[in-house]
Amino acid sequence: MRLQAPRGTFDVLPGDARRRLDLQRNAADVLGRAGYGPFETPIFEDTELFARGVGEATDIVQKEMFTFEDKAGRSLTLRPEGTAGVCRAYAEHGMHKLAQPVKLWYWGPFFRHEAPQAGRFRQFTQVGAEALGSDDPSLDAELILLLAELIELAGAGPARLRVSSLGTPETRAAYLEELTTYLRAREGELSEDVRERLDQNPLRAFDADHPGTRAVMEAAPRLLDRLDPADADHFAAVRDLLDRAGVQYDVDSTLVRGLDYYTRTVFEFESQRLGAQAALGGGGRYDRLVEELGGPATPGVGWAAGIERILLAAEDARDARVADVFVAIAKPESGGSAFLMTQRLRQEGLRVVMEQAGRGMKGQLKQANRVGARATVIVGDGIDVKDMDSGDQRAADSAEAAVQMVRETVG
Ligand code: AMP
Repeated sequence: MRLQAPRGTFDVLPGDARRRLDLQRNAADVLGRAGYGPFETPIFEDTELFARGVGEATDIVQKEMFTFEDKAGRSLTLRPEGTAGVCRAYAEHGMHKLAQPVKLWYWGPFFRHEAPQAGRFRQFTQVGAEALGSDDPSLDAELILLLAELIELAGAGPARLRVSSLGTPETRAAYLEELTTYLRAREGELSEDVRERLDQNPLRAFDADHPGTRAVMEAAPRLLDRLDPADADHFAAVRDLLDRAGVQYDVDSTLVRGLDYYTRTVFEFESQRLGAQAALGGGGRYDRLVEELGGPATPGVGWAAGIERILLAAEDARDARVADVFVAIAKPESGGSAFLMTQRLRQEGLRVVMEQAGRGMKGQLKQANRVGARATVIVGDGIDVKDMDSGDQRAADSAEAAVQMVRETVG
């Protein structure tokens, strides 16, 4: 029987791998210019980290973790998200002694045991950025701008941005109680679905299509109206910076994220081009997480974005160009000269591939088009340079003249 990749996983074939690498380079560049340094944590961690960090009651911890025992009987888990590991590392390495904020970015595989569907996998890749050690609202705004820029650069824009503030866990708990009481008093008007899940997740009622429920929700209390003054001021400061930077966003007081650690700012980018799994990336502030993991009290803010989703949303913008130049071989004895011409052109910083499959000239020119070459150098008794856009073909007096002609053609 032919073996296949496990359910919910996938191979990254060369075309996609190239787009992923481009995205990673963009991330390194965009985040690097904002002072974020590359960072890595292990792909598996003690299970306890996620139980404590992400939250025992979350879907991720309850249902979605790939957990196993090592030979000594310790429980380990393939990381379902990146922030808990970053906070563990911050505490473990005493990074609070460094100049604050500590700004980090990461890229790598994450694992969740979810039902696979378009845009939802069991192994997926996230790029993430975190700023620890300061609660300055400019960090929240900066991180939102950086993710917007990455999505835009990837060709996955425009994406809808929703922002909200969750305040403190205490505010949230009191609010959920208020909301549940409000809904209980109007139970008869709610959909069965919402009624059944009232205790587990009353916030879901805000997403309902059911007319009765919608009418009830219009007058329902909103978390944003219950924030402490300091949290409300913080959120106003973040919004002010976004406004001044010209960022479009919707304040959505029903925005909830699937992880328990958030405080104050939360945000999410969504693509209109994707179906049910529309979230490209999101994040927020987690001012208590480092302390909950045994470190010093340290505010933090960050986001994670799904690479596969970003590339799905950017599908239309796909560029199949593999090479700038194709080096063709006019007769078998010219193979060595063509090889040297290829090396010479690569020294110019160009992307160059040569004929390596024994095709005839017609097949070689077809191949040149297939790889997206803008110039083809034909090496035989002499050297010709063909402009693949105009079709013009000219003879070069020497190898160096050919290099010059290629440079002019490729631009
Ligand atoms: P989260 O922190 O859960 O919001 O995840 C951040 C981003 O990772 C999401 O917005 C998605 O783009 C991506 N993501 C999360 N789970 C999956 C999954 N199972 N498959 C693919 N991408 C995912």
